[in-house]
This record gives sequence, structure tokens and C-alpha cells, in this order.
Amino acid sequence: MDRCEACERISACTVCGHRVTGFDHIGVRASTSRREETAAGSGRSRVTSGSGVWHFARPCGHRSSSAAGSPRVKYNGGPLWKTGYTWQSVYWGTYFTTPSSSSWVKRVDDAVLNIETDKAYSGGLSEYNVGMGRVIPHTIIKTSPPGRLSDSQIKQALTGWISQGAVSSLGTEGAYNIFLPPGVTVSLSPLEASCKVFCDYHNTVDNAKGPFYTVEPYPCTQGCNQCTSDPFDTLTQGLSEEIVELKTDMDPGTGWVIGNEELCDYCNTKFVCNRISTGEYVNAWYDKGKNACWKGPAGQRSELLSTDLDAHRVRVDTGS
Ligand SMILES: [Zn+2]
Ligand SMILES: [Zn+2]
Repeated sequence: MDRCEACERISACTVCGHRVTGFDHIGVRASTSRREETAAGSGRSRVTSGSGVWHFARPCGHRSSSAAGSPRVKYNGGPLWKTGYTWQSVYWGTYFTTPSSSSWVKRVDDAVLNIETDKAYSGGLSEYNVGMGRVIPHTIIKTSPPGRLSDSQIKQALTGWISQGAVSSLGTEGAYNIFLPPGVTVSLSPLEASCKVFCDYHNTVDNAKGPFYTVEPYPCTQGCNQCTSDPFDTLTQGLSEEIVELKTDMDPGTGWVIGNEELCDYCNTKFVCNRISTGEYVNAWYDKGKNACWKGPAGQRSELLSTDLDAHRVRVDTGS
């Protein structure tokens, strides 16, 4: 997608002033160390989490701050995840072949399966016409990524792995979770590096044609876990969000969005710690049927009521 509702009228880069021919749209979960960004839209404003569909101007590559679109939940007609679609996890680097990381890989594999098959969490997305997928065995890529990676390099690498048969060829009917080893930083632009500015993201190599992928840097030490200090919980919070947002907005900005936000971004504004029935921490998605953010079965009871009220108040404040 070159243009969405939020960027259709932007003709010059807000950073360098260069003429803009279009935008790359990427679904990004911002680090909380850079929070409280005010988005103005139609004369009103609301404090966002900073997470959302980020806009990178072409050809200069700068991230553009853009006016928020309508705060109503909306489907823009792009591809959605259907029942029976496939996930494959890709662990990139020899780090993941070491005996000491095998238990980590096993826990992450279990978490992917548990998140994707949780009836309440993943199953609830049926209200968005999104189904549950299956999870096939992971792949470990036995070459190590460079210490600094761009998203274009990730696209190139994924395309290469598919053509070489190092990962399964999922076409448009699935997606990859790409896990990076410790010490590897991903940059979405010269100014946007993982852990400093964002936690994780999802994207597509070629818009609606895919392949589709999430990128999970090794858990950041701060800004990406508001519930515990356990790196595994940091990972599942980001992973669950990217899984949900990839499924409901496979080509970022063309699926289900709320203005410039995807379904979990919206709930990060009034963040509540949640776990699925198997115990993993997950980020909530906006439940349009209930007009509230998703709550786990073991949710914090004292917070449930205030969350409902908060979600309701945010909607009212934005004039929806
Ligand atoms: Zn746009
Ligand atoms: Zn620029």
C-alpha cells in the first residue's frame, strides 16, 4: 500500500522536506521508554501508546509522524488470516543451536502454539473474521545475522530462505515469526532501532502478496514489559501482540485498524497485564463486540472494572 487514510495528503517528508512518493507501512510496538506521543486528528487529540502503523516516507526512508485517522475500528479490505493458515518460527543464528538455548527455544515454541490455539484469546478474533492457524516445526538458520540489521535485510534473508527451502514456503497462507539472538539490533530507519524506540513489529515482503512475518528481537531489558522482569514474559507480550496484529492486519494498514493503530496498539494506551489459560503473558486486543480490551481468565480482578471504564472513556473522549 502506498497510501492510507492517514497519509493520503502528505506530500513532503516531515523530517527532511523531500517530496514523498508513497509510504512503507509497518506495524510496530513502541518501547514505553518513548511514550506519550500526542496524535492530533480532526481537531481532537488523544494520548497514544506510540505503537501503531508507522509510516516511512519513500524515497528518503524517514519516519513521518502523521495525523491519526478516524478512531473507529475499521476494516480496509486487505488480507486476513484464515482458519488453517500456518505459522513457522525461524530462529536466526548459531546461538539457537547451543545446548543452553534449547530450553528457551522449547518454551518459545510452546508459547507460539499456546497463543495461537487459546480459545478465548485467539479464538475471540473470529469477530474479525480471523481464524486459528496451525503451527509447524521451527527452523534454525545456522548462520548468524549481523549485529545491526535493517528491515530490508530481513526481507532479503527471508526471501532467500524460502527459495533455498530452508523454511517452508507458506505463500500468502501463513507467516513466519523471526526470532533474533542476543546482541542483534534491528533498525527501521537510521533513527529507529529496536529496544531504544520499539520492541517488535510485523510486516510483509511485498504488500498483500507476502510473505508475512513478525520480527522478535531478543527481549529488551527495558521498555517492553510492564508486568514482570522475566525476559520470557517480555517476549510473549510482544509475540502475542505481533501474532494478533499480523493476523488481523496482514499487510499493515489494510486490515483491521483503529485510526493509525492496530488492535493491540489501541489497548496499550491503558495497559493491563493479562495471561492466557496456559499462563503466558499476552497483550490485549480491542474487542469490538464488547467495546473493551480483551481480558484473560486469570485477569487481575481489582483492575477489571477500571479497565472497562477506561476503555469506555477513551472511546467517548475521541468522539466515537
Ligand atoms: Zn499511510
Ligand atoms: Zn525524509
